[in-house]
Amino acid sequence: MEKIKSFTVNHLTLVPGIYESRRDPVGNSVVVTYDIRLIKPNISPVLGNPELHTIEHLGATFLRNHPVYKDRIIYFGPMGCRTGLYLLISGDMMNEQLFVLVKDMFAFISTYDQEIPGTQAIECGNYRDHNLEKARKVAGNFLNDLYMIEDTSLTYPE
Ligand SMILES: [Zn+2]
Repeated sequence: MEKIKSFTVNHLTLVPGIYESRRDPVGNSVVVTYDIRLIKPNISPVLGNPELHTIEHLGATFLRNHPVYKDRIIYFGPMGCRTGLYLLISGDMMNEQLFVLVKDMFAFISTYDQEIPGTQAIECGNYRDHNLEKARKVAGNFLNDLYMIEDTSLTYPE
């Protein structure tokens, strides 16, 4: 079988940031997959599943309630390697708009202090596996990284 494109990205030079991973035409539109890379792969310790799970619940809640983009959100969920999350959006977006959206989402997560949505046994497949304190910390650190990024091209480094 052919190696899929995302495995050809050089994970040794990757730094935290937002990257456009794929564009898939669907009907008359396009679904764009963004990699939200929270930590440096294979160097920084990977994220624990509880904090990643909490980021998933809070991020999905934020995105699916967003006044402008809620109807264009296809998916938000963790990478199996536990270094980030995937965000799939229907239709094209300006890079700057995407950066604002992701910054707003991580600002929301980094200051969230209420009950995590979807954490009753009936609502989630592993409802005890959450860590809000760590999720807030991870989100705050990533937000700081985002504010340092000047290159908003969304392209992976060589
Ligand atoms: Zn869950």
